[in-house]
Amino acid sequence: MTNVLTVAADEKFDAEARLLIIGAGAAGLCAALAAKEAGIDPVLIERDAVPAGSTALSAGLIPAAGTRFQRAKGIADDPQLFAADIQRKAHGEGDPAVVDAVARGSGPLVEWLADRYGLPFDVVDNFNYPGHSALRMHGLPTRTGLELINALRNAAEQCDIIILPERVAERLLADHDGRILGVEVVCGDGTRERIGCATLILACNGYGGNPDLVRRFIPDMATALYFGHPGNRGDAVLWGEALGAQLAHLSGYQGHGSVATPHNILISWAAMMQGGIQVNSEGRRFCDESRGYSEQATDVLRQPGGIAWDVFDARIAAVARQFEDFREAERAGAVLTGTTIEELADKMRVPATVFAAEWADVERLKAANAQDRFGRRFIAGQSCVPPFHAIKVTGALFHTQGGLAIDGSGRVKRKDGSLFPNLFAAGGAAAGVSGGQAAGYLSGNGLLTATVLGRLAGQAAAAQLTD
Ligand SMILES: Cc1cc2nc3c(=O)[nH]c(=O)nc-3n(C[C@H](O)[C@H](O)[C@H](O)COP(=O)(O)OP(=O)(O)OC[C@H]3O[C@@H](n4cnc5c(N)ncnc54)[C@H](O)[C@@H]3O)c2cc1C
Repeated sequence: MTNVLTVAADEKFDAEARLLIIGAGAAGLCAALAAKEAGIDPVLIERDAVPAGSTALSAGLIPAAGTRFQRAKGIADDPQLFAADIQRKAHGEGDPAVVDAVARGSGPLVEWLADRYGLPFDVVDNFNYPGHSALRMHGLPTRTGLELINALRNAAEQCDIIILPERVAERLLADHDGRILGVEVVCGDGTRERIGCATLILACNGYGGNPDLVRRFIPDMATALYFGHPGNRGDAVLWGEALGAQLAHLSGYQGHGSVATPHNILISWAAMMQGGIQVNSEGRRFCDESRGYSEQATDVLRQPGGIAWDVFDARIAAVARQFEDFREAERAGAVLTGTTIEELADKMRVPATVFAAEWADVERLKAANAQDRFGRRFIAGQSCVPPFHAIKVTGALFHTQGGLAIDGSGRVKRKDGSLFPNLFAAGGAAAGVSGGQAAGYLSGNGLLTATVLGRLAGQAAAAQLTD
């Protein structure tokens, strides 16, 4: 069955909404809140009974520059610095207009959610992620995406925004020029509905949950654990292909090299950034852990058995413990403890002599503020003392970064660069700002483009409808 159906301009629908949004994750809900504020009643179509998406699985950290939360802690930052960090990590591959829009919109986004909808953000100030030249990760108290999505959904409910649950958008209905006229949805009971719209926002994330598309665009991760929402099946890309939309950075993705196995719990990269290291099952280090967790996914998967060990101490565990996920890993028994490196090696079942030599080498480098053989610079003051901890981890695919090419307000581009008249995309449905490689992903690019572009797309769609 074709996934974009050409229909006549006077097609009759079962229901009508001026603004339809597909997907009620962070992108869809931010778009809906922004549109509602601008006087448009949006309707969201959501596959699940209760909206969750990958947003609920995330740590819920949104990078934002120049916020009052940063100023209160004396952190100097601005959108230009942030945009430069994004492009440095993305090797300059991010679309400058989109990078500029998200960097400039990030501070206002976080303050908007805090001030208008009461989300209690603060800025994480006890560790930084690779590639950020200022402390700018803003999170909610539990540091979970579940708290974020629940807060966004509550805000939408308070504003009487309609979310149609248990409905999968299956086909777009468009005229000959690519103007979207409506969406065909399949309801939970198998019945079909056609909902007409004047404007459509795609907020249905990427293709991590579609093994065929992962194999096609990201073969390196074809057999890796997919840790995102399984309902994100690449519909935006498939619709875009059929409509003649421009697609960009399809090989880009957010990977992660630190998912506790077999427990499947995210272990924060704080463990590495505070002076922890990874060793393989032979007790050897294998790369510079401070480059970023995204590129680390394939490095871990290349090790014997596709696993590695995060190794750190009690000081680092205390920093990681701010994340509910880390506390869950402790409860699940994923965190091993040893009073000496040899005792820990025994519990990890790695060769104690090799591991102890690696560990001693790292501690020497820390004391000397020196660089290792992989290019990692260790820092004095991050020395580790007993007791030591280790967690067995693997590499995973978190979400895809490729998608529909958009302008700075989320409007979708045709192959020739012109804009579709009434089609927007935000979050994982749109091409991100990380370029075409896992290494291009700067921490937080996912929720950054979901929340900021969601808001911008909602505002622009509403402006179009009220013109
Ligand atoms: C474990 C993990 C940790 C992460 N941590 C962070 C972090 O701390 N910071 C950060 O910036 N990013 C993080 N990310 C990435 C981040 O979660 C995503 O980039 C972000 O949530 C994407 O938001 P979204 O609204 O585009 O998609 P989602 O939140 O996935 O929402 C998409 C919604 O669309 C629905 N949907 C899909 N297709 C259809 C359809 N055809 N019809 C109807 N509904 C449909 C889905 O059910 C879903 O509810 C993490 C990801 C993972 C997996």
